[in-house]
Amino acid sequence: MKRITLVLILVSVISLGRVVAQHDTEATRLLKEQNNEFVPEIFKFDKNVWFAVGYDVSNIAMIEGETGIIIVDAGMSPVRMETLRLKFREITDKPITGIIITHGHGDHYGGIQAFLNEGSNPQVWGRKTTQDENGGFSIEANVAKEAGLTYGNVRGARQAGVILPDSIHINNGVAARPNKQETMFTRGKETAAFTITHFFTEERKLIEIDGVKFELVAATGETYDNMYVYMPEEKILFCGDSYYKSFPNLYTIRGSQYRDVQSWYESIDKMLSEEVDYLLPGHTRPVVGNENVKETLSNYRDAIKFVFDKTIEGMNKGLTPDQLVESVKLPENLASKPYLVEYYGRVDWAVRAIFEGYLGWFDGNPVNLNKLAPKPEAERMAKMAGGKDKLRAIAIEAFETGDFQWSAQLCDYLLALNNNDNEIINLKADALMEIAKTMVTATGRNYMNSYAIQLCKGFGK
Ligand SMILES: [Zn+2]
Repeated sequence: MKRITLVLILVSVISLGRVVAQHDTEATRLLKEQNNEFVPEIFKFDKNVWFAVGYDVSNIAMIEGETGIIIVDAGMSPVRMETLRLKFREITDKPITGIIITHGHGDHYGGIQAFLNEGSNPQVWGRKTTQDENGGFSIEANVAKEAGLTYGNVRGARQAGVILPDSIHINNGVAARPNKQETMFTRGKETAAFTITHFFTEERKLIEIDGVKFELVAATGETYDNMYVYMPEEKILFCGDSYYKSFPNLYTIRGSQYRDVQSWYESIDKMLSEEVDYLLPGHTRPVVGNENVKETLSNYRDAIKFVFDKTIEGMNKGLTPDQLVESVKLPENLASKPYLVEYYGRVDWAVRAIFEGYLGWFDGNPVNLNKLAPKPEAERMAKMAGGKDKLRAIAIEAFETGDFQWSAQLCDYLLALNNNDNEIINLKADALMEIAKTMVTATGRNYMNSYAIQLCKGFGK
């Protein structure tokens, strides 16, 4: 295979706005198909519930009460939410009396100002976990903030593909590619005034807003402050990010505190105890029909539990994370479900996260207690290969024979020896971009492509 340097690809992508026509891989085809999940549509369920999909990176609901409306989740972008608010206003002009946020991730509350700006002073509900002294709404961000950790933002931007040109950015797995013209990433500044007015701290609480009954239920999953919102009369359940059409993001590669995988499948078990005709997720399209919801949630729960149980079982046998990812695979009857395709989360990343969550970084192999630093290891690898030039030739040959991962790994040795080696920098970037094409997991794919571009540009130096 002939290698085209990344620089040339970038020139064609950025200057000409297109790339040379290439045959789509199966992963690319699947990921493009997932874009159907984000086509804008406002569904109406029962007599008083509207559910907007595709208006922002997450889904938003409007419920009509006796004299006002209640919003469930408020999107990420105030600009996009203003567009949706005006759509909702074509349906009713009743004032907003309540806003319920399913969990403290910015893509579910960042757009709230568009609704608050109406000035009707709604009750704003969020879950405050009591499990941690840092507990509170948006606990994940609070923990990072308290530690002074900001690098998650850099990784998050890579995973979201913020710098990627249209031609190589398909979507974010469970969300459409953001439109940068709509100031998707300005939410921090514009939502500074937002506060939760009503904290939910119990296991389960029945609230009534404007004559509409909601059961708020503690349901730790993607975050420790996740809840689901159940409407018993309408048999509608808003699950936040505990379910969406993808294998769940049990570990996020942008990095976060450990996601409690065991609680996640237990939360889905709780949902299965409700009578649900409409499952309305935080991302992707609704799941409709009592039997359909039951089957979907059961399989989703089983998949998470399978990965958790098999990982713990392997850990008890002394397997390392590298060994575990080889053995823990979803059984075919689960892996074949369209909602368990790894568009967003990935089984092997979850396995590593569970290991780390319970046993920490040490994999159990004492060789790794005194690992060689990158440079001394690279020196030995070069010597073993017959010299630095030979190692370089092997890295290039690996690329040209399509062994991109090995090529990228060899590039790391060469860069440990000389991190200003432009030919190797380009080779690594090209290898990452080739690997990205074979990944159905949008987060990893976006990260690889973003990193490759940044690597060629010297990471902004
Ligand atoms: Zn979300």
